Amino acid sequence: MLIKNMTVKIIKMPLLKPFKTALRVVYELESIILKIETRNGLVGYGETAPTFAVTGDSKSSIIEALHIIKRHIMGKSVLDFNQLLCIVHNSIEKNFSAKSAVEIALYDIFAQNLKIPLYRLLGGSKRDFKTGITISLNDIDTMIQDSIEAQSRGFKSLKIKLGDDYKEDIQRVIEIKKALHVETSLKLDANQGWSKEECVEFLNSMEKHQIPIELIEQPVKKGDIEGLKYIKERSSIPILADESVFSPMDAVKILEADAVDFVNIKLDKCGGISNALLIADICKLYDTKCMIGCMLEGAISVGAAAHVASARSDTVTMLDLDAPILCKTSLVSGGVKFDGADIELSDGYGLGISGLKPT
Ligand SMILES: [Mg+2]
Repeated sequence: MLIKNMTVKIIKMPLLKPFKTALRVVYELESIILKIETRNGLVGYGETAPTFAVTGDSKSSIIEALHIIKRHIMGKSVLDFNQLLCIVHNSIEKNFSAKSAVEIALYDIFAQNLKIPLYRLLGGSKRDFKTGITISLNDIDTMIQDSIEAQSRGFKSLKIKLGDDYKEDIQRVIEIKKALHVETSLKLDANQGWSKEECVEFLNSMEKHQIPIELIEQPVKKGDIEGLKYIKERSSIPILADESVFSPMDAVKILEADAVDFVNIKLDKCGGISNALLIADICKLYDTKCMIGCMLEGAISVGAAAHVASARSDTVTMLDLDAPILCKTSLVSGGVKFDGADIELSDGYGLGISGLKPT
């Protein structure tokens, strides 16, 4: 179980449509794939995506961080698992995307060695999930068309990207809601685009127009915990923290301040599976439910997030793991199956990945 080699590969996959938020526009998914091999012949896969606008981690910084982590873990035994995760986290400050990719590959190997799927290793049993889908920030007509199309593909939960101009955003949601079936639920993500006052006005307007909103995600700047609290005290629409919570300690601070109703966990924000589990456990202490989300990543790391959802299915009640289905092509053979709104965990060992598809 000694680590023999770690290799890095960059893969680009075209998206079905450009992905647009208040922070960025992306035309293709760029994924950094990691392969860790052990001397006894096991191969673990990891993955991350350079999401500079959110994590601050660029492609080159991730690759450099992976080289540094590699130097620290080469020759170490995966059986000394917790010790090995500490080495990964202590080998470099921050760089959570790179750490997440390494952790995913190590968890994959550890579970394979025990001949069990990763979700079983983590104590999970649920294998079938539903994900929502993201509607990119565009002009109103395009957003209406995209929402109708998503609904016709079987998605019951849409996450509408907003955060452009809050008055236009009000109009966007009114028009989108009019075009959809009553039972289609709406989550809204402003990606830090509004002030706290604008958000309250926006939410009041939703209530005035009797538009049911499941939650509003990260309406104000990530450091503005007071702003989130200000909104929570003035609206009954639940607030989900995304960019405000990277680390487990961020979760403690925001929950202690009673500033949000839900927390969005992403492996690339928190540094991998171990911290994702820890954040879910912290949220459970505060009787707070979580969403598990993803960046624009492929099926390896998004699949790993689905295994975390299984492991903490009592706390992680919402899945926003749509990135693999936004791509024209798929990345891996085996692993978690992403089919429209349906996610199904494989019962293969570890992540259940049999190999990478040729690109
Ligand atoms: Mg978000």
